[in-house]
Amino acid sequence: MSSQIENVEKDKNGEQETGYKSVFCPFPYVHVAVNTNGMYRVCCEATEESPHSLQEMKPAEWLNSQYMQQIRQTMEAGQWPSQCSNCKVQEAAGVTSKRLRTHILKVPDTDQPEVTSLDWRIGRLCNAACANCNQENSTKWERSGTELNDLGLLRDKEISAVAVEEGEQPFTVTELSKLKRAYIAGGEPFLLKSTLPIVESLPSDCEVIINTNLSILNDDILREYIRFGKHASLVVSIDGTGPGFNLMRHPIKFEDFDKNLRQVMDMLPQTMIVFNFTWSLLNVSELAPVIRYFRGFRESREKMLIDFHPLEIPNYLKFANLDLDFRKRVAEKTRSDLAGSNTFLTKLGLHTEIENLIHLLETEQMTKPETQREALIYLNWLAKDRPYTEDYISSSQLRDGLLSSHQPTRTESKGIDHNHMKDNTSS
Ligand code: SF4
Repeated sequence: MSSQIENVEKDKNGEQETGYKSVFCPFPYVHVAVNTNGMYRVCCEATEESPHSLQEMKPAEWLNSQYMQQIRQTMEAGQWPSQCSNCKVQEAAGVTSKRLRTHILKVPDTDQPEVTSLDWRIGRLCNAACANCNQENSTKWERSGTELNDLGLLRDKEISAVAVEEGEQPFTVTELSKLKRAYIAGGEPFLLKSTLPIVESLPSDCEVIINTNLSILNDDILREYIRFGKHASLVVSIDGTGPGFNLMRHPIKFEDFDKNLRQVMDMLPQTMIVFNFTWSLLNVSELAPVIRYFRGFRESREKMLIDFHPLEIPNYLKFANLDLDFRKRVAEKTRSDLAGSNTFLTKLGLHTEIENLIHLLETEQMTKPETQREALIYLNWLAKDRPYTEDYISSSQLRDGLLSSHQPTRTESKGIDHNHMKDNTSS
């Protein structure tokens, strides 16, 4: 491990701006991630949940478990652990992976792993059923998740029998004496009862990050946030603006998000606000609008960042389901819409990353026809379940983008007849 740590130190001393050499990543040495069902995983980007839960072992035990030892050994042998294939694929495509963004984590000085970073999804309670989300992460998805499973669109893992209920957390953060960074997500943390006691029990010099949909504000938590000053961040999910936002964040409305965002900025001037944009088939046209919206704030507020990721799961929502010519047209329009922001993006060091993402959009290999069929079924289900989304889906020509890549069956064709769909939704 030592040679890989030397490489990291070089990075931190500025010889390289970002990134680690080889396949080294600090997460398996310092970080504990817990899903809403209490199961551990290496980090939020990992492709699988581990077989161990918070009920079975404490975070420090988990970090020293056989499962984690094996991951570290694989990395130290210079190979990618199978759980890390998302980072591997993204880096091969020139996209800045989560691994390459972890230079914020301090790498341990010894070979003894220590929990300094926690990612805790504390519960499923949520008031939104976002288009990319699932039952595992939102109670609002329960009805829809069942319907989609009936349509053969298996996106939800079975909710584990060990699902953690509100108020039954088996450990407290005060047990982690070396904790330097706590990321809290749900569900919606501003709705979850456990959020406030967790935040209250963190020391003021701990970096605290809450991931929120900003549909509602929780004054008690926000007041507590003031104590953390510049150590506090809010990650806000924004996958579109206007109707594009409404499509992605059902049933939250963009106007409410915008109003709450401005209120939080006034209340917490020292808090870092991080826009989190996940790029998928549904919001393929939303990259430029979100960047322009971000720019509107960032030019007068330094404490703002924006983070981009291509969607990883489910496969049928990846933009790679869209026909290549369609994607090339979207890529061209995105570049043209962003032309006026190039200097701004270059100043923030984001221009290359965005260009790499756009390049991925116009070159990524098409998914299998079966997956494209699933995408079409989902799109039609969405327009039927949430009728106000139909105008956005039609105007962004998403069905055309899918249909040019495969011949629809009779049933699918029927599903895409707009009049047929409007008849259905008005009944
Ligand atoms: S390499 Fe990627 S997936 Fe693996 S632990 Fe690091 S950030 Fe997570």
